[in-house]
Amino acid sequence: MAKYIFVTGGVVSGIGKGITAASIGRMLKDRGLTVFMQKFDPYLNIDPGTMSPYQHGEVFVTKDGAETDLDLGHYERFIDEELTKRASITTGKVYSKVINKERKGDYNGETVQVIPHITDEIKNAVYKAANESGADIIITEIGGTVGDIESLPFLESIRQIHSENKQDDVLFVHTVLVPQIPGSDELKTKPTQHSFKELMSNGIKTDIFVIRSDGEITDQIKRKISLFCDVPVEAIVQSKNVELIYEVPLVFKDQGLDKYILKKLNLEDRKLSTNSWEEMVERFKSAKKEITIGLVGKYVELHDAYLSVIQALFDAGYENGAKVNIEWINAESLEDKENLDKNLKNLDGIIVPGGFGSRGTDGMVAASRYARENNVPFFGICYGMQVVLIDLARNVLGLEGANSTEINPDTKYPVIDLLENQENIDELGGTLRLGNYECTLKEGSRAKSLYGKDKILERHRHRYEFNNDFKEDLEKAGAIFSGINEENNLVEIIELENHKNFIACQFHPEFKSRPNNIHPLFDGFIKAALDK
Ligand code: GLN
Repeated sequence: MAKYIFVTGGVVSGIGKGITAASIGRMLKDRGLTVFMQKFDPYLNIDPGTMSPYQHGEVFVTKDGAETDLDLGHYERFIDEELTKRASITTGKVYSKVINKERKGDYNGETVQVIPHITDEIKNAVYKAANESGADIIITEIGGTVGDIESLPFLESIRQIHSENKQDDVLFVHTVLVPQIPGSDELKTKPTQHSFKELMSNGIKTDIFVIRSDGEITDQIKRKISLFCDVPVEAIVQSKNVELIYEVPLVFKDQGLDKYILKKLNLEDRKLSTNSWEEMVERFKSAKKEITIGLVGKYVELHDAYLSVIQALFDAGYENGAKVNIEWINAESLEDKENLDKNLKNLDGIIVPGGFGSRGTDGMVAASRYARENNVPFFGICYGMQVVLIDLARNVLGLEGANSTEINPDTKYPVIDLLENQENIDELGGTLRLGNYECTLKEGSRAKSLYGKDKILERHRHRYEFNNDFKEDLEKAGAIFSGINEENNLVEIIELENHKNFIACQFHPEFKSRPNNIHPLFDGFIKAALDK
């Protein structure tokens, strides 16, 4: 039987609710418990797959092909588990399910209502996650801030879960901001008290407070919150500002939060089963070297659009004893030849991550060519592989105007093109090639030596593919197709010989990189950059 922890947020958004939830997961895993995590998102989109990266940041993809919120990336990196579509529930998903059922007549003539029909569907999502994962603990983060109209059905559902389970099987954690008044530096708990009341009016009495604040949350402040909000002082912890996000579980542990949670869930006698997270953080913090990686993309103004990529770069850097500085390079700026050398010459490595649409493509092609010709360690991901192939076709094979049909449907040389099964799709949502596909690595390739195995499983999110009509010519020109999906004969990895590290892949390795288990392609790239 699973136990449930629900994490809500109050006062303001953006105070690290996702990291808080993930850190609780990590602490409990370190106690030898199995953990599954999920996020409720109150928006009406079925998933964030159709949202602009500027609106929503990165779309994180699970192994079973769900397009999800970037908080799932934090969850996976912290708890080191592969999550599934059960981990991502939106209002849109819930309503579309209920409405489909209604159209089929599944409700036998009943009036379909938020309570119980929508709330039943939400509760099902939690119980199904528990059943399918078999985990000891299910941690559910409720997106948004308490008081939002959109989150009401979710709050009502978790209230019901609390009332239909044993008292010590359900725990509520509320994350809040305690602001500091400019000038007097006084810390104010009033917003916390209001948020507590707001939750109470939804029938939820929080068990634990996690507090963000610029000031020090002293015992006096804790006693005040304890008095007004009816929780013991030991149930109030501060989420201090830290150098590395991976320190948060340790900050919580130092304040006894893991012990308190175990006590409340009646799992008290659990011993710490591993210290390896703490050792990892120590190792990361002792990194002495520094390198600079240029990230060439079109959404560089919003760093969250590349969250898992930069996290994987940072983690691979730390694991190799180096702090990675990211140089954010707007791909369009490289379309002006004069900027090319100026913007790229001081970099230790260049990465071109995923992207959609034409803007900046020629700049990405120029970055790929620059890295190729100047022996700069290069790593292309998804669209980053497609631009490499465009560069090779244009500048090595001399096929002028070679392109992806995503950018120019009439190109004479469609090196990147749609597969037949993608041609007649007219809906945007959920129709990309998504999730895990197998890839076989070529004997003697750099990819094979980095992975150290023949077959790999990686996550995908793209529509266009390399066009095999160009394969022979490109091979003759020196390209090595080192990873192939044999089932559909699709190119998954391409690399170049006689280069420090020139690798590009059609899949998204960043989704599988973990701080305590660095992805081999990121590791190889960072090692090459350090070697430069
Ligand atoms: N736009 C490209 C495609 O759809 C690449 C997608 C990506 O980089 N995620 O195939």
